[in-house]
Amino acid sequence: MPVDDSLCGLFGGTFDPIHRGHLAPLREVQARLQVAGLARIIYLPAARPPHRRQPVASAPQRLAMTRIAVADEPQFAVDDIELSRPGDSYTVATLAALRQQNPRRRYALIVGLDALLALETWHRWQNLQRSVHIIAMARPGWRLPKPLPSWWQAARVESGAELRRTVGGKILFMETTPQPISATLVRARLAAGEAEAVLPMLPSGVWDYICAHNLYRNETGDG
Ligand code: ATP
Repeated sequence: MPVDDSLCGLFGGTFDPIHRGHLAPLREVQARLQVAGLARIIYLPAARPPHRRQPVASAPQRLAMTRIAVADEPQFAVDDIELSRPGDSYTVATLAALRQQNPRRRYALIVGLDALLALETWHRWQNLQRSVHIIAMARPGWRLPKPLPSWWQAARVESGAELRRTVGGKILFMETTPQPISATLVRARLAAGEAEAVLPMLPSGVWDYICAHNLYRNETGDG
């Protein structure tokens, strides 16, 4: 079966809450890789993220905030596929389900550098890495390891054009503009009542939603 020439980006996360660090670097990635066929990025809120604490906000609240955050961005969409499936949110299973829905589509996972460096802890990571492209974005506080792990070195490409040659198996690192924001930091500042510090980190609609639902006032989820 012939595959699509375009590439669909998949961006998974807990989004507890979604913040500008989940938006600005993705805009850059999409704009820079448009010529390589990256027309669209789909945000995938995770139901029960493996290997980490449970989210503070409920799944419907995290989904709602993600939808609000990307509402005015035609190149971004949200899919609740992981929230509608019971159990852990394994990327390899999500990808299989998406491929069943759209067998001709080509996919690239988009991850922050911290997430890529934890790839070896992901469920069936080698199968996953061989079957899909990965685009990794810089993240403040994280450096490229020297030397790169052998699996990364073997899969490494330097340009978006090289992602067009195969259906998967390549890793492209991009130096996006640093956004020193994390959801942990947002939750901690909110719990400390430091609204002023949080405002620049969030899209305004997400801030309104957090206030309307009294989220993250007492609980950071990190204690
Ligand atoms: P937490 O602080 O709760 O761990 P987070 O801010 O890291 O949350 P996640 O939802 O866990 O957000 O992350 C989803 C994806 O977004 C991951 O691939 C992560 O590396 C990436 N990401 C998050 N924040 C940034 C940022 N500031 N710059 C680049 N990538 C980011």
